[in-house]
Amino acid sequence: MSRTAIYPGSFDPVTFGHIDVIKRATRIFDKIIVAVAEDANKKALFTLDERRDMMIDVTQGMENVSVETFNGLVIDFAHKRNINVLVRGLRMTSDFDYELQMALTNRRLAQDIETVFLMPSEGYSFLSSSLIKQSASLGADVSTFVPSVIEARLKDKLNS
Ligand code: ADP
Repeated sequence: MSRTAIYPGSFDPVTFGHIDVIKRATRIFDKIIVAVAEDANKKALFTLDERRDMMIDVTQGMENVSVETFNGLVIDFAHKRNINVLVRGLRMTSDFDYELQMALTNRRLAQDIETVFLMPSEGYSFLSSSLIKQSASLGADVSTFVPSVIEARLKDKLNS
């Protein structure tokens, strides 16, 4: 039986930490759908289409990884696709409370769906999209945090 997992997130923008999680997930699952969330509550720097396109760019060449967008509940998206595993990344213990709360809420809402947590390489465990956006807006070199295509997109966006 082929196993597919969904990796949902805002990816605003995608970082080396997210890419690390995707690569690890492809070693466990046959197929990964990276699901870029519309997330109307969060004020994203990049539009949904931009976030999706950037994710497509950086996952090009990764076998068995596809990128989609969704709005609403991730469990509804998973049910529509007949998928029962969600992948999330755990960086520091500070992620744990929020991620546990969300996983348990999703489980209460959808008993058939499990959340699997993957830890990135420790070199990426401090990376967050929000800190990268903040650093880039102050002129920092973020080339060790995001792929060069994303760095260029960030520069364009912040200068526009
Ligand atoms: P959210 O979905 O909460 O808006 P993100 O889009 O930034 O957050 O991240 C999606 C998932 O990837 C979350 O589970 C988050 O904890 C995880 N993640 C974010 N940055 C990293 C990183 N540097 N290393 C590993 N996992 C990460």
